[in-house]
Amino acid sequence: MPHPLQAERSSLPRDPAEAVAALEAVLEQARNYLRDLDGAPVRRADSDEAARRARGAFPEEGDGTQETLRALFEIADGARVASSGPRFFHWVIGGTTPAALAADWLTSLVDQNAGGWHASPLATELETVSIDWLLDLFGLPSSWSGVLVTGGTMANFTGLAAGRRWCASRNGVDVEQQGLAGMPQIPVLSSGLVHVSAVKSLGMLGLGRATPTICSADAAGRIDLARMERELKALDGTPAIIIGNAGEVNAGEFDPIADLAELAERYGSWLHVDGAFGLFAGASPRTRHLLDGIEGAHSVSSDGHKWLNVPYDCGFTFVRESSLLGEAFFAGAAYLPESEEDRPNYGYMAPEISRRARSLAVWATLKAYGREGYREIVERCLDNAAHVARLVEEAPDLELLAPAGFNIVCFRYRPDGVPDEELDALNLEIEQRVLTDGRVYVGTTRRAGIVGFRPAFVNWRTTKEDAGLVVEVVRDLGQQIRGAL
Ligand SMILES: *Cc1c(COP(=O)(O)O)cnc(C)c1O
Repeated sequence: MPHPLQAERSSLPRDPAEAVAALEAVLEQARNYLRDLDGAPVRRADSDEAARRARGAFPEEGDGTQETLRALFEIADGARVASSGPRFFHWVIGGTTPAALAADWLTSLVDQNAGGWHASPLATELETVSIDWLLDLFGLPSSWSGVLVTGGTMANFTGLAAGRRWCASRNGVDVEQQGLAGMPQIPVLSSGLVHVSAVKSLGMLGLGRATPTICSADAAGRIDLARMERELKALDGTPAIIIGNAGEVNAGEFDPIADLAELAERYGSWLHVDGAFGLFAGASPRTRHLLDGIEGAHSVSSDGHKWLNVPYDCGFTFVRESSLLGEAFFAGAAYLPESEEDRPNYGYMAPEISRRARSLAVWATLKAYGREGYREIVERCLDNAAHVARLVEEAPDLELLAPAGFNIVCFRYRPDGVPDEELDALNLEIEQRVLTDGRVYVGTTRRAGIVGFRPAFVNWRTTKEDAGLVVEVVRDLGQQIRGAL
C-alpha cells in the first residue's frame, strides 16, 4: 500500500492540479448554494443528524481530497444554517457581499500572515487603507488609528485594554509590565445596555466581570446620567473606564454618546464605545445623529461580520491615541522585525501576532460598493425594521415591546385570551418551532423582564418581503400552538 501522501488518491499530493480540482468542486457548490440561497430553508429539520455524520474514527489513511470534499459537501448541505441568506434575523449576523466573499477566498489562497509588513506588505497596506476608509465611513476623525481583530468581542477587549493601560499609567503603573496586583481596582461604569462581550472582556483583562457599576434608569437598562455623574464625582479623580453602548441587542437602543463624552472629559475617564453594529448609524444621514459626540470617545469597537457583510470573522477597534495600542500589545523578539515608518506591524498593535489577512475582504467590499453602497445597505435594513414594526402594530395579536428606531424590532405574540403570565412560555415555544421551521430564523430575548422576539436586520440581501415573513411565521406558529391546545 503506497503512503497516502504519495498515492494518487492521496490527501496531500504536491501536484497543484489537485488543489485546483478541489477549488473547482467548491466553485460548483458555490454556484448551487448562491443560486438557491434566497429560497432555501434557513435550517433543515434534520440538521442535527446531518452534522453528526461527520463523526467516525480518525482515519489511518486519508480518504483523499475529492472524496473528502464530497462527504463535506453532503454534511454541509444538511447541517449548515443559511445565516448568510436573506431570511436570517437571529442575533446580529451579516451575510457576505460578492466582493467580500471572493476576497476571502483569495485570502485563503495566498495565505498571508498579517502580523507584519515583511510577512505581507499586501495584508498590511490593505489594513491601513481599510482602517482609514472605515473611519471615514463611520464619521470618526481621520487622525485616529485602528486594527482589525476577529470580531466585536475582541474589538471590545482591545479598546478596553487600551483604556486599562491609560488608567493604570495615571496610577503610575505600567500594567502590561507589572500587572494589576499592585494597584487599586480600575472603576468601570456603564448603562444597563452593556453587552455581555464587554463584561467578558473585563474578565479577560483582569478588571473583573463584576466591576461595572450599572447606572440604569429603568428596567430596560437605559442610562441614568445623573447617577453616573454622582458615581464619577465620588471617585474623586480616580481614573475610570466608561463603556458607552451604541446599539444594544434587544431593541437597538443607544446611550447618549455626547453626554458620556462630556462626563469622560469632565472627570478624566476613558470612554470606550461599543458600536458592534450601531457604528453603522454613521453610514446614513438618517441615523448619524445617534453617534453625536463620538469623536469625544477614546476607543470605539465595531464588527465586520455583522453590518459590513464580510465573512466570519472580522471586527475593528479604533483609538484616538494611536500609541496606546502599540504599548499595550507590543511584542519584541530577536526574530521579529521592528516596525518602521510606513511599514507597520499590526501584530504588535493587536492581541494576535500571527493574523488572518482580514483586510483583503474589508478593502474589497469597501472599494466595490463605496460610501453609497453602504448607505444603501444600512438604509435598506432600517426600512426593513420599520416595515416589520408597522406590521406588528397593525396585527391584533402582536405587541411592540420597544420603540423601533434602528435595525432591531422587539415584539411578542399576544393573542386575546392568553393570560399575561403564560405569554413568556408561549413566545419561547414559538421560538423553538421557528428554529426548525425553515422559513425564517429569529430568536427571543428578555427585555425589561418580558420575553419577546428581536429580529435584527443587517444582511444586505434581505428584501421587504423577506423581512415581513418574520411576522407571518411568528403568528402562524403561534396559531398552530394555540390550535393544538
Ligand atoms: C455582536 C456584539 C458584540 C460581540 O461581537 P462578536 O462579533 O460576536 O464577538 C459586542 N457588542 C454588541 C453590541 C454586539 O451586538
